[in-house]
Parts: sequence; structure tokens; C-alpha cells
Amino acid sequence: MEKYSRRALLGTGAALGAAAASTAALAAASPGNPDQPPQGIMNTKDHPQSATDPGPQNPALANQFPAVLTPPATDVADLPQFWASFNNAPRRIQNGGWARQVTQSDFEISESISGVNMRLDAGGTRELHWHLAAEWGYVNYGNCRITCIDPQGRSYVADVKEGDLWYFPGGYPHSLQGIGPDGCEFILAFDDGKATEFNTLLVTDWFAHTPLDVLAANFGLPESAFSKIYTHSLWIYQGEVPGPLAADAQAIASDKGAPPNPFTYALASGPITQRTKGGFVQVADSHNFKASSTIAAALVTVHPGGLREMHWHPNADEWQYWIKGRGQMTVFGSGPKAVTNDFAPGDIGYVKRSYGHYIKNIGNEDLVFLEVFKTPTFEDVSLSEWLSHTPPAMLAAHFNMSPEDIAKFPKGGPDVMPA
Ligand code: MN
Ligand code: MN
Repeated sequence: MEKYSRRALLGTGAALGAAAASTAALAAASPGNPDQPPQGIMNTKDHPQSATDPGPQNPALANQFPAVLTPPATDVADLPQFWASFNNAPRRIQNGGWARQVTQSDFEISESISGVNMRLDAGGTRELHWHLAAEWGYVNYGNCRITCIDPQGRSYVADVKEGDLWYFPGGYPHSLQGIGPDGCEFILAFDDGKATEFNTLLVTDWFAHTPLDVLAANFGLPESAFSKIYTHSLWIYQGEVPGPLAADAQAIASDKGAPPNPFTYALASGPITQRTKGGFVQVADSHNFKASSTIAAALVTVHPGGLREMHWHPNADEWQYWIKGRGQMTVFGSGPKAVTNDFAPGDIGYVKRSYGHYIKNIGNEDLVFLEVFKTPTFEDVSLSEWLSHTPPAMLAAHFNMSPEDIAKFPKGGPDVMPA
């Protein structure tokens, strides 16, 4: 059952027909919805049948979404769906690993980012390929070896572990390979909602679709050298677990040197950008992960009872990947609209640029999720930071609150409350 806010409790005592002429009457109006009739289960209290669901249902699924079944009375429905999940995305499984994806074809709101979840076992390899979109990766399990080269011929190889990132600019060729002891799993965010992992430029496809005499001329070999090439792509294949990183680094070394900025970054094990009593945030954008020129991200940890504060992002839509714990996010848009949804590990959330939102940890363990943006720079506007730097008399007039309470609004943009 929804815990009612102070404002909501005031609302239950208000006569529904009361004219909201004064500021006091406005504060006492039915919660959330300035229009009549009011919404929310609290407004059905004389007729509980109003909120029952006697028709067909799938409790195993429906019970995952308490905030959808019984929204807070402050919600006003009718925002585009901002919940999706890898949990119900079909896996394309091959010998060596699998992938599944949620693109804008599956998730209409997700215009700026397309998401992929991939598993490569030890030696499992995502074949050499490239694509139009830039690729940002986050390792959520195990260990992976990546290779890439830039257009100047500067080559790169690195091993990444759980909590690490990589970034490949659009068109840069690369490979991914699970290493010991048990390979890896990771998610990818492409900086284009329509990008798909199932239709990339594969090096085996190009070989298979090039006449042998051209391959021979291109590589300076007799045609016979290509007599056994595959006539189909590999995409993912089971290979051998590679040897030490140093050996691969030596094998791929370029006389042009290494790229000026590493294509990998240790996010989860790196510095904490901001810590409060409620949790902490680790940001990776083009300031500290210089290669990541089109994607900014924040790894957010919210302790039990904590709240990712009311805020918005002025420069980009937010794509979320939910890693651990249970959370509820409410999104606020003009209209007014306010919709709450429930999130669990493996889920995806999406918030349009400048739409207000907050996230509650509703579980009894840490809640961990990623905020990912198609922009070089992480930016957010903290509601409390804004209001604590606004003339107090103006705030008192807006909210009918005491100046003493207003003076206690947290300063500094805490990110996660309590500060
Ligand atoms: Mn790729
Ligand atoms: Mn956000």
C-alpha cells in the first residue's frame, strides 16, 4: 500500500467539492490531480470494488509492478511507457555466447540509446566487426579482452573486469572475447536508438562477399590461400582462451603507437564523484573518460531507505540499466503527468530530457543502476539545489511553507538523500 505523503494526508480530509480559492484550500485539494475527479485508490475508499481487478491476470508478472497496479494518488497517468527489460528480450544463442537487445523498435521512447546484453564464455568471441553507431560497454560479470584500432592505425588491446567500461567511436573496428575463469557478460549502449547488434558489419561477411581474385590482390597472396574461408558469418563463435595480455599487446603493436586516450575506464572501482549518507555516484564522461566523446554515464548506488533526489538532465535523455536491488521511479512531465514504475535487475528505464524524476530504493539492500546519456558531459539540475538558491520569500509564496523549513532544504545538490 502506498505510504501517503503529508500533502496526501491533508487531501484525505478535504471536502472534494471545496472551492480552492485560497492558498490554504489549494494545499488541501485532493492530491496530485488539480483537475476533478481525483485519482488514486485513496479516493475510492467508500467503494473498494473500484480498485479490484476481477478479470484475467498473470500474478507472477503483475505482482512485479505494485506501483503500476496501485499508483500513488499523486500520479496522473498517460506518459509513454518508460520501462523495458532485457529479462523478456529473446536471446540469440550460439556456441560461445549469446546476445539480446532492446532497440527503439521494441521501446519507442528510447530514441537516443539502443541497449544490448551479451554473454561470452571463456574463449567465446564476438567476431571482428564495426558499425555506424558508437558503442559504450559496461561489464556486469567476469572478464573480457577487447581490441580496437583507430583510423590513424593506432592499435589497442585491454582486459576489462566487472564494473569497467569501454567506448568505441562509430566506425572503429573492434572485437570482444571472454577470458578466464568464466568469460564475461556485459551491456552495450549504442548512441542511436535504432542501432542493432544483429545487423553489424562483419569481417567474415565481407570476405565471403568478395571475389577470390580481389582478396588475393588486396592481401598480396595467391587465391589458394583463401580457399577455405567461411561462406557465412560467425557473429559469435567458441574460440580458445587467449594467452597473457602482454603477448597480445606485443602481437598487435603499431609503429604509430597507442591511441591518445584509452578506450577503457574503470568505473565501479574508480573514484567516487559524490558521497552522502544515502549513497554515492560515480561519473564517467569525456572529462575523465576522454575517449567517450558521445556518451556520459553515472553509476548510482542508493542505500536502503535512500532516494536519488528530484532532478532532471538539461542536455540529454537518460537511458538506465538496473543492476541490483529494487527501485521505484516516478517521472514528471508537463500536462501535468506523473507516472511511477517498478524496476528490478536487468530492467531498462528511460527519461526524456528535462523531465523531472526521482528514484526510491524500496528494497532492503543497496540499489545500483546506471544513468547513460548521449552527450559528452554529465549534467543534472537538482531541485533542492535550485530552490535553496532562490529568494526564500518567493519559495514561501509558491509552497505555503514556513521560512524555517525552507531554510533547511539541502544545499549543494546531494544526488542521493539523505545528505
Ligand atoms: Mn560492436
Ligand atoms: Mn536522472
